[in-house]
Amino acid sequence: MKEFKHFINGEYVSSANGKTFENRCPVDGSLIGQVHEAGRDEVDAAVRAARAALKGPWGKLSQAQRIELLNKVADRINERFDEFLEAECRDTGKPYKIASHIDIPRGAANFKAFSETLANHPTEGFRLDTPDGKGALNVGHRTPKGVVAVISPWNLPLLLMTWKVGPALACGNTVVVKPSEETPATTTLLGEVMNECGVPAGVFNVVHGFGPDSAGEFLTSHPQVDAITFTGETRTGEAIMKAAAVGLRNISLECGGKNPGIVFADCDLEKAVEGTMRSAFVNCGQVCLGTERVYVERPIYEAFLARMKEEVAKLKLGRPEDAETSFGPLVSHEHRDKVLSYYRLAVKEGATVEIGGGVPDMGAALNDGAWVEPTIWTGLADDARVIREEIFGPCCHIRPFDSEDEVVELANDTDYGLAAAIWTENSARAVRVAEQMEAGIVWVNSWFLRDLRTAFGGAKQSGIGREGGVHGLEFYTELKNICIKL
Ligand code: NAD
Repeated sequence: MKEFKHFINGEYVSSANGKTFENRCPVDGSLIGQVHEAGRDEVDAAVRAARAALKGPWGKLSQAQRIELLNKVADRINERFDEFLEAECRDTGKPYKIASHIDIPRGAANFKAFSETLANHPTEGFRLDTPDGKGALNVGHRTPKGVVAVISPWNLPLLLMTWKVGPALACGNTVVVKPSEETPATTTLLGEVMNECGVPAGVFNVVHGFGPDSAGEFLTSHPQVDAITFTGETRTGEAIMKAAAVGLRNISLECGGKNPGIVFADCDLEKAVEGTMRSAFVNCGQVCLGTERVYVERPIYEAFLARMKEEVAKLKLGRPEDAETSFGPLVSHEHRDKVLSYYRLAVKEGATVEIGGGVPDMGAALNDGAWVEPTIWTGLADDARVIREEIFGPCCHIRPFDSEDEVVELANDTDYGLAAAIWTENSARAVRVAEQMEAGIVWVNSWFLRDLRTAFGGAKQSGIGREGGVHGLEFYTELKNICIKL
């Protein structure tokens, strides 16, 4: 049985309060281990270690030296690929086939992509005329923000955590990470990698625990934290924003979504089915960018629905390590209760269950896991809660539409604004519709495809700020203007 300790100042430490909680595998409900729950003391120790490290050897490294270290971290994750893969899949239940292509490689790549952008980013400079004719130079100079708190979710634990830790460290900050209580394993393992690569003690710290009245709240309200970057639910983002208001700390919030997929009659049907299948069902539908509302132009509505049902029926539920498994369990029983409550609500709200809608019989060995059936509904009203609220499960609602104007309005009729996917072979229409989407990212004939140098973030209640590429610089650095009189 495993024990997940905090990682503070380069060492694994237990909670002084002796508090632990269970970490269970959602595949079969088995106990993975005990996780230490941080009290205020551990959080304080982690933040102090991070603050001290800013002034230690870390703070004296050149940008090139930091980047070299972070490249080592990326390489070391890849060298220990199988350990990260096993730990991630045990915590989440996701198929090896998916995690080995997405979670772990991207987890490593996040330490390289931002470093490269940073290394090539120019410094701003202006020459100012002055009355004496001699002028002045204004030069932009970036310094680290300081101690950055990273609060991460459970759906892509390593990927989404390193997506923030990579740029934070590349910019010279130090971090205290609070991974989700559901998925402590890979963040804990990363501590070993940091030590192996010679990242100075205190630069990367981890505290475990829950949100309110636990490690999450203690960390985000700690006065020595300079900035908070968060990925998770919109309601949690609101709580973090309140905590950050004290002391005017910077925030970056990547929150929930209720993303539309728009399928025009002039699409390549097979491409649209393949992409929509992935966007609704990969990772058991637990992807913030996933599609839960699908709008299909009426001439191809029946054909599209029939093809989707055929493909859902082919999803292979099973153990993560089995090569043919394409669909795992939800992350926990708690989350399954939430998803199943929406399955019941959909029926109450008048949906036709086209496929799925319940709990599969996985056999004696797996029936204690957090399994649900992949589900498609039709027939719901546009104001149904199932259409308006983020479910974060393997399910979508498919509805016909008749005109471009109508579908633009339907797609935007949501509190969220994270992503949209458009399927059409008419490029003028694709651009026209994409420009009208109220979302941080719009895919045309694709999904989950993004150059890491581009901006990422949400509109409306899907978040505040943009990270990725040079955009992350605005959050992870303080931009100073140095004015030199000539
Ligand atoms: P969550 O908000 O419940 O938890 C996220 C993290 O916040 C966890 O580590 C949790 O312990 C912590 N937390 C909870 N309450 C807190 C508080 N009061 N103070 C400080 N920390 C607190 O989210 P989740 O259930 O782990 O993840 C699923 C959600 O994340 C979905 O809404 C999904 O859309 C969203 N998400 C968004 C993105 C994005 O990039 N926009 C990416 C992935 C997931």
